[in-house]
Parts: sequence; structure tokens; C-alpha cells
Amino acid sequence: ESSATGAPSPEQGLADRSRGALMNTYGPPRLPLVRGEGATLWDEQGNAYLDFLGGIAVNALGTAHPAVVRAVSEQIATLGHVSNLFAAEPTVALAEKLLHLAGRSGRVYFSNSGAEANEAAFKLGRRTGRTRMVAAQGGFHGRTMGALALTGQPAKQEPFAPLPGEVTHVPYGDVEALRAAVTEETAFVLLEPIQGERGVLVAPEGYLAAAREITSAAGALLILDEVQTGIGRTGHWFACQAEGVEPDVITLAKGLGGGLPLGATLAFGEAAELLAPGQHGSTFGGNPVSCAAGLAVLETLENEGLLDRVKRVGARLREAVLALGHPCVAQVRGAGLLLGIVLTEPVADRAQQTAQDAGFLLNAVAPDVIRLAPPLIVGEKETDALVRALPGILDAAVEQQR
Ligand code: PMP
Repeated sequence: ESSATGAPSPEQGLADRSRGALMNTYGPPRLPLVRGEGATLWDEQGNAYLDFLGGIAVNALGTAHPAVVRAVSEQIATLGHVSNLFAAEPTVALAEKLLHLAGRSGRVYFSNSGAEANEAAFKLGRRTGRTRMVAAQGGFHGRTMGALALTGQPAKQEPFAPLPGEVTHVPYGDVEALRAAVTEETAFVLLEPIQGERGVLVAPEGYLAAAREITSAAGALLILDEVQTGIGRTGHWFACQAEGVEPDVITLAKGLGGGLPLGATLAFGEAAELLAPGQHGSTFGGNPVSCAAGLAVLETLENEGLLDRVKRVGARLREAVLALGHPCVAQVRGAGLLLGIVLTEPVADRAQQTAQDAGFLLNAVAPDVIRLAPPLIVGEKETDALVRALPGILDAAVEQQR
């Protein structure tokens, strides 16, 4: 409601202004949020919400974690952005830490987002001298033109055709289709361990290992996009570690920066030497402030044993949702704290809204899939609260549908 003067009322405040000022790429804003702490967020009116979205798998430690606040404040007060033509301690230390967690020798290229991490992988792959690429149908790798070319979702791609590159998209999880698509001309195969944006679809057991075997035999690189699954989200530093698969390249972003923009392209062995000086770069990629946040995230996850907790809390949440025996829940899939509640009816959009009304932020990732990707610090108190509220949230969504 606008007031007599035409000025927006406080309730409309941010939402209205965002409609007037921001390009409409995300649709109408869901909710103006003003503050957060851990897994709780508050809106302008002071209503609290439990965060089961985590900025879509971003806020590994939740909002305003003291370790991140301290690291960022100290770093920006000491040395903010430095040109990548110089060296900065947090940047080098974060690269060393990531390689240590991967348990392999290699090198890191830092950027500012998942799309950029994949763009770097795309260019690195082209330096093999081969031009063809293979990715998966339904996959998501970002919205820049190169990353969009690799994305396997025609509705997102078609408005921007023609896209760069020669990409073959194979059905996800089908080993024989992958084997048939990979040739001596293939530069790389790019896959996600779990297709998050498609609706938290998990690769069948053995698929990634088969992809490793197929790419190695053809002399092609295997690149895993762990933007959504990496940095503890599945209870492992990298989802591929759970399968014992060693890709040539891993791309990361989201949770890595603890809420700050940070992408990373980890390349191992010979793949680490493919990009030469002058062939790629970014002004802000790997800036010391984002990297200090990244270090704080990794150290906190490690020192507080949060990976084990992610496995435990995630498993309990999944089992509790299934145990509800709600007629609307067909299946719960995913790993760790990246879960998809598959519904028997296409009411995910409505459930997103009825959940919000009940004080829970979650994400309708597909018409029939609710995605849960809470901060990794979320505890059983919070997950139990969601499980208790879920029957009411789903009943209200189904009711509205009728
Ligand atoms: N890859 C995957 C697997 C993703 O889930 C996303 C983001 N949803 C991206 C890449 C793109 O990341 P960004 O939005 O940071 O560019």
C-alpha cells in the first residue's frame, strides 16, 4: 500500500524499491531481510526465520559468524585488495589449504563466483589443444556465456543462442552414453557429483568412477563442478572424496567465501600447468579479504569437527522427514546438508511460501522438489523445528493448490 504522498509504507519499503531499482532477473523479491545470526534471519518487521536456504548453499557458517567477521575486519583494516601481480598471505595460504584438503599436488586459480570458476576450467580445458566438451543434461554451471554453454538446461540457454563451444550433453548418470560421447577429440568432461539446480539429483553409485576411467582412457580431462557440493556440504571436503574419485579439476565457490564472493579452480597434476602467464586473470579474484574469509571458514569447519556434524544432522533430518509418512513426500534425496524433498504433487512453489509464512526459508528448486541447504552450523534443534512444522507447511500448500 502506498501512502497519500505516494511514498511506500515501511512494510513495502525495500521490496518496492527493489522492484523500481533492480533489473528484474530474479522475479519479485520474496522478503526484505535486514539481519542475521547463525541460522536465523530477521525481516524488517522483526519476524524471525530459520534459514534452510543458506544463500543456496553459500553461508557455510551461517550469518555473521564471529570467525568470519574477525578475519574480514582484520584483513580489510590491514591490507584490502591487492593486484594479483603482487602476492598476499591469505591468498597463498588459502590455496595451500585447499590443496592440502584435496590431498593432492596441484595449483589454484581464484575468481569471484562459480560461473567464473567454470570459465577458468573451460579455458584451461581448451589449452589441451582439443576443442570438444561433454557435459550432462540437466547440469548447471553458471550464467556467463561459457558456463551457460556447458549448462544442460535448454530453457536457460535458448534465449542467448548461439553459445560458445562444441558441447555434447549426455543423460546424467548413464555410463554407456558417456562412453559413447567421449572421443580422442574431447578436451574435457564436466559433471556435478549432485545436480543441485536440477533438483538435488545424486549421481548413481560408480558413475563418477566410470567417468574417471572413460576420460583417462581417452586422454581427456575430468572436471567436477563442486560449487554446490564442495566445502563440507555433503559431509566431505569434496563430494568426490566420498567416492575415491580423483578428477583433474575441481571448481568451487558458494560456501568457500563464507558469504563473500570467492570462486576457485583447483587443478591437479599436469592440468595445473595448462594456463600460462597472461592467458587468464581477474582483478578481484583471490583478493585477500575474501581469502581471509575462506580461511576462517575452512579452519572453523575443521577445528569444530563440523563435517561429521553435517553427516549426522543431515542423516537425522532426512530420516525424520521420511518418518513423517506424509502423503505429499515421495522421497528425500541428496547427501549431508544438501537435501531434496521430492513431492508427490507439484506444490513446491506454494510450500516455499507456506514455509516462509511459518518462519522457515527454503527453496522450490523444481515444481516437485523442495531443496534444503542450511548453513553447515545448523543444529538438531533447528532441523527438528522444521520437521515438526513440515506437515502443516505441506498441508497448507496442497490446500492452496485446490
Ligand atoms: N555450478 C553449480 C553446480 C551451481 O550450483 C552454481 C550456482 N547455483 C554455479 C555453478 C554458478 O555459481 P555462481 O552463481 O556463483 O556463478
